[in-house]
Amino acid sequence: MTPHYELPRDEADYSFGFLDEYAKKEVRRAILKAVAIPGYQTPYASREMPMGRGFGTGGLQLTLALVGPDDTLKVIDQGSDDSVNAVNLREFVQLTCPGVTLTERTEEATLIQSRHRIPEKPLRADQLLVLQVPYPDPLVVVEPSETKRKIMHGEADYARLLVKLYEDIVKFDEITISHRYPTRINGHYVIDPSPIPRWDVPRLHQSPALILLGAGREKKIYAVPPYTDAMPLAFEDQPFRVEDFRDAAGNRRACTRCGATDSFLDEFIDQSGGKVYQCSDSAYCAERLVERAEAAA
Ligand SMILES: [Zn+2]
Repeated sequence: MTPHYELPRDEADYSFGFLDEYAKKEVRRAILKAVAIPGYQTPYASREMPMGRGFGTGGLQLTLALVGPDDTLKVIDQGSDDSVNAVNLREFVQLTCPGVTLTERTEEATLIQSRHRIPEKPLRADQLLVLQVPYPDPLVVVEPSETKRKIMHGEADYARLLVKLYEDIVKFDEITISHRYPTRINGHYVIDPSPIPRWDVPRLHQSPALILLGAGREKKIYAVPPYTDAMPLAFEDQPFRVEDFRDAAGNRRACTRCGATDSFLDEFIDQSGGKVYQCSDSAYCAERLVERAEAAA
C-alpha cells in the first residue's frame, strides 16, 4: 500500500464551504438585511475559522456562504494575487469548496474577495466583491460607546465625524485620511469602506456589482448594493479628492513595469535608493505587459 499524505477530502468530512448549513444560512440572512438597509452594520454570529481573526475571517465567511461549485473566485491582498494572505485564503477555498474555479483575471471572476483594494478593471453587475474589514464602525474614532454609536448611526448624526475632518483641514490644510475614508451610503449610513485607498472610494458609487463588507472579529456585515450612492464625507469648499500621482513637474507618474498612467501606484525604493512606482493591482499590470508584448510582436 502506498503511503498517502494528502488530506483526503472524503475523510476531512467538511460540508461544502467548510461552514455548516446553519452557519451559511445565518450569514446569508445577514447579507439580505445588509443589502436591504444599505450601509447598516448588520450583526451576525461570526464563526471560529481555522485561522486567526484579523486574517480576513469576515470576508472568508461571506465568500464561503456565497460561493457555489459553478463560481470563479479571485482572491487579492493589497492588489496582489500572490501575497501570503491571498494565497492561503484561496487554498482554503480550494480545499473546502470542490469545483470552484480559481482565477487571477478580474473579468473572469464571479466572486472577488479582496483586502485593501478594488480591482482596477470596472466590475460588472454579474460580479460580486467581498471586502475584508478590520474595523467596521467609522464613528469609533469619535465615540467609544457602541450603544451611543448605534443611536448616532440611526439618527444619521455624523457631526462629530465632520468636526474631525474639519480639524484635519485646520491643522494640515487638507483631509489627511489616506484609507478607510468615511463614506455615506444611500444618503444615510456612513460606513468604514475598509482600508481601501481613497483612489478606490469613487468606485463604490453606483457600482454595478454588489459590494459586501465583512468584519469577522467585530461580527458585522454591511453592503453597498448595486447602483447605490456612495459619497465620501467632504465639505463644499474642501471636496474629496483621490491620491495625486504627479511628480514635481506636474506629470502623472507611470508604472515602471507596464507604463500605465491610470492605475493606483505603489511606491518602492530601488537598489540605488530612488523611488519607483508600480501598479498596485498586479493582475492588471501583468495583463498590460502581455498586451504590450503582443502589440510589439
Ligand atoms: Zn503596471
